[in-house]
Amino acid sequence: MNPLFKELTPWLDKAYALNSALVLFEWDAETEAPPDAEEMNAKAVEILSTEYYKTIINDTVKELLWKLSDETDLTAQEASIVKELRKQFDDMEPIPQEDYQAFRGLTARGPSIWTKAKNNNDYESFAPVLKEIIDYQKKFIKYRLEASDKDMRPYNLLLNDFEEGFTMKELDLFFENLKNEIVPLLQMVVKKKDNINKDYNHRQYPIEKQKVFNRRIAEHVGFDFNRGVIKESAHPFTTNLHNRDVRITTHYHEDNLESAIFSTIHESGHALYEQHISDDINGTPVGTGVSMGMHEGQSRLFENNFGRSRKFWIPLFDKLKETYPENLSDISLDDFILGINKATPSLIRTEADELTYCLHIMVRYEVEKMIFEENVSIDELPSIWNQKYEEYLGVTPSTDTEGILQDIHWATGSFGYFPSYALGTAIAAQIQAQLRRVMPLDQYLEEGNFKPINDYLTEHIHRFGKTKTTNELLKDMMGEEFNPQYYVDYLKEKYTELYKDL
Ligand code: ZN
Repeated sequence: MNPLFKELTPWLDKAYALNSALVLFEWDAETEAPPDAEEMNAKAVEILSTEYYKTIINDTVKELLWKLSDETDLTAQEASIVKELRKQFDDMEPIPQEDYQAFRGLTARGPSIWTKAKNNNDYESFAPVLKEIIDYQKKFIKYRLEASDKDMRPYNLLLNDFEEGFTMKELDLFFENLKNEIVPLLQMVVKKKDNINKDYNHRQYPIEKQKVFNRRIAEHVGFDFNRGVIKESAHPFTTNLHNRDVRITTHYHEDNLESAIFSTIHESGHALYEQHISDDINGTPVGTGVSMGMHEGQSRLFENNFGRSRKFWIPLFDKLKETYPENLSDISLDDFILGINKATPSLIRTEADELTYCLHIMVRYEVEKMIFEENVSIDELPSIWNQKYEEYLGVTPSTDTEGILQDIHWATGSFGYFPSYALGTAIAAQIQAQLRRVMPLDQYLEEGNFKPINDYLTEHIHRFGKTKTTNELLKDMMGEEFNPQYYVDYLKEKYTELYKDL
């Protein structure tokens, strides 16, 4: 080991330990912590965050990082760890410690204030917190741009935090193209939607039975229960400490069969990525998924491209019927496949179908752009949100609960995150096209044989963690960088075929 890198190791270990504690607090807040625990727990988060900050931002680490950046005898792993830590250092150093600490405290408290506001349809009670979070973000952007001397638009800096190299220029084009392709398809589909009856989905499905079936489906796609757990939370999510501790949640609704099924498959897709990270980089700053876009690329590949296909359900549908004979005896596999692919414009992003999903993301992208590029006022946001829903989806929220208050992201300080959902959806279609080139994908899905699929994804994507960028991964895997045309082709083909006889 390079001697300078050896000197850096204790700092890396400490950062890893502190970050683990923070991840566990976050996990706990969403799963097990009682409601009144929040204030004291937020205090602990604030203190631990400060310790984390001091572990990265100090003169010793700075000197080591600068020297290491010039070293020529580092292993590839050491070099990528140095590069990643240097990036974190450059992002954090311009932010004063007090501001960093206050922001972490604020965003630890944000979700519970948002939850109450959402439950009570009370945007006004959330607006001041939202304003404070946005003001901090704007201040941080200013600090970071000044320090880096970069000529960059404020919102581009945020976008870059979630998916390197994707700016408003690329995203504007991406969304414009999607809108032009999706809207006519949606018009065709909406005309026929009443021909699909999915009443079966809203019969009574006992939660205990759902738990058993959902565990089975996670196992089916390759989720490793020796390295992961499934718990419950209001909003399903995945978190990870390292490749042997990957945690996902789902949410069971007694009167909605598919909600938990598809969130379990989705989060399993995230989990597989993290469980397959190479041991060589496990527990290091590069030992996790490269970006939110690539992460969504995995989760949506499993949820939509695989999970909503007919082949996927061939080995599972009888088991589903056996689990709920009283509800599904009159439903055929074809009815079910049409049901899980029924597309219709709606108000809630997390319940949106595959076809309309990206339109929900467009709304958020444009609202965020207005916040950071046009300084739009906080009070105007609900009505801007509603107008955009009317414009893109033809539906208008009647309350803020089903409008601007529906997502947790802004309460946690995450701006620039949403576009990665749309990018990930497009990446998933691109990966699926590659899988079709190199293996009999349909046959494996029909057999329920996920081993070769997971082996391929591990070999070409998962194991690398952050040691390659999204575009490098795609290019090395299939000779081509990100190309959204795969997604457009996939949607057209899928929906034309599905709806042709209706
Ligand atoms: Zn996801």
